[in-house]
Amino acid sequence: MNDNEPRDFIRKIIDDDLESGKHAEIVTRFPPEPNGYLHIGHVMSICLNFGVAAETGGRTYLRLDDTNPGKESPEYVEAIKENVHWLGFDWEDRLTHASDYFDRLYQSAIELIEKGAAYVDSLSADEIREYRGTLTEPGKNSPYRDRGIEENLDLFRRMYAGEFGDGEHLLRAKIDMASPNMNMRDPAIYRIRHIAHQNAGDKWCIYPMYDFAHGLSDAYEGITHSLCTLEFEDHRPLYDWFLDQLQPEHRPRQIEFSRLNVAYAITSKRKLNALVEEGVVAGWDDPRMPTIAGMRRRGYPPEALREFVIRAGVTKKDKLIEMGALENCVRETLGDAAPRRMAVLRPLKVVLTNYPEDQVEFMEAMNHPGNPDFGTRELPFSRELWIEQDDFMEEAPRKFFRLKPDGEVRLRFGYIIRCNEVIKNDAGEVVELRCSYDPDTRSGTGTSDRKVKGTIHWVSCKHGMDASVRLYDRLFNDANPNKADDFHSVLNENSLEVVRAKLEPSLAEVDESVQFERLGYFCVDAQDTAVGEPVFNRIVTLRDSWAKIEKQAMQQA
Ligand code: ATP
Ligand code: MG
Repeated sequence: MNDNEPRDFIRKIIDDDLESGKHAEIVTRFPPEPNGYLHIGHVMSICLNFGVAAETGGRTYLRLDDTNPGKESPEYVEAIKENVHWLGFDWEDRLTHASDYFDRLYQSAIELIEKGAAYVDSLSADEIREYRGTLTEPGKNSPYRDRGIEENLDLFRRMYAGEFGDGEHLLRAKIDMASPNMNMRDPAIYRIRHIAHQNAGDKWCIYPMYDFAHGLSDAYEGITHSLCTLEFEDHRPLYDWFLDQLQPEHRPRQIEFSRLNVAYAITSKRKLNALVEEGVVAGWDDPRMPTIAGMRRRGYPPEALREFVIRAGVTKKDKLIEMGALENCVRETLGDAAPRRMAVLRPLKVVLTNYPEDQVEFMEAMNHPGNPDFGTRELPFSRELWIEQDDFMEEAPRKFFRLKPDGEVRLRFGYIIRCNEVIKNDAGEVVELRCSYDPDTRSGTGTSDRKVKGTIHWVSCKHGMDASVRLYDRLFNDANPNKADDFHSVLNENSLEVVRAKLEPSLAEVDESVQFERLGYFCVDAQDTAVGEPVFNRIVTLRDSWAKIEKQAMQQA
């Protein structure tokens, strides 16, 4: 692809529309329904809508598509606003709601009735379903379809005035009950629902249907390109029909692209809501959730999410992208940005028997091996140290280059040590290693040119800080939990492990994401950390341990 070529088919259409003079300015909208928190799929839509407008000097609305009272709430509205800002986008003064247009929509409905293009139906919900026909059989006309305009106007006004109960009447578009496209078989425009609205309060007891409200809201706002996912492709004729009938000043164009699905993650607000309601996770922002709130708390940087959707691309083909691809974006961003620190997740005590009891030395440690601008820090070193249990093996294979009985290893930024004695408890578990250090091997001093194959991390016992560290894994065992009949059956029981770790003292003050050397990227959990009781989240491991398994599983999914 050459540099001047648009990245995807939507950007191509937009470029063409600007070039031909069809539009002088691109106007888009991101229209979430506030019935749950935004997830990784929405990230794609946000980046696309805000992205194409920003790239061409256009504008984007954040529109809360709130036509379904009962399921929607101000809590979700606030979370959505916060999430979009955090991702790096700004709607400025263009925050709207479908409900802002309820008066205009009502007037447009009256206009349709006056044109003879809409009627009040009084069949029951069951009858309406029956009359609708099937994919292979045409529907049939409702006996109320030919009501006169005056009667329709009267009934619709009385629906508005609250004279009828839920489901007694329905305003429908008069299109074609035999259309092969089910969406065109006289779809509903307004239904009666005696329920309060999250934004409009008690004013209404009739509410417009999504298809009617959405396209007209687009038109009212002067949206030029209404970008949505492929499931709305069959709704486009209806979208256009309303515009043809009502001839608003601005005529938006609906363009569909495929949904972004990520392996091992669920991208349906309804199912994510079930995970929260059932207590499977600790909330919408549980760091295992593929919600923006969850990924943020987990420590995923917004740049990484934006990069991920660029790599995923905008297409018309359904796709399931590897979770590993998302994690790689996170690793790449943090690899450059995160300072290095030392932490021991599963501590094993080492006593340096030839090191003076009360001595403390300060070892100079680089904060970033690839970038001297990060500077250095001083690590306290003393007689008793914590090392990782995994870094010692009593019966080690020949190629094990960490610590083993009578073996040597270098402590990062410190000395070479030798393991002389292994202490066990009554259960036969290794609880302590007695080692000696070689004073001539202090890192960076060059008094000895002795080399050993392995280097391990450590924390001084006297100076180390206790912390809970949460190690997250995939929430599901199945690459495509969206497809599972019951997602409960594919939950990964081991998606969270909490360890009591030892951290180098400088981590008491950290408020950014860091790399724990040799272990992965971690951040403070802002919510659960209390004074003196730090809680860290593992953002991502250093390497993709799932790569192979995921590739295989995706081929079968
Ligand atoms: P959900 O099934 O999670 O409720 P939705 O499509 O009903 O998703 P909306 O709040 O209506 O959620 O979505 C707002 C916008 O985000 C819509 O334009 C929708 O097409 C888009 N969107 C939702 N999910 C995805 C996805 N997985 N990939 C890309 N865009 C998405
Ligand atoms: Mg929806």
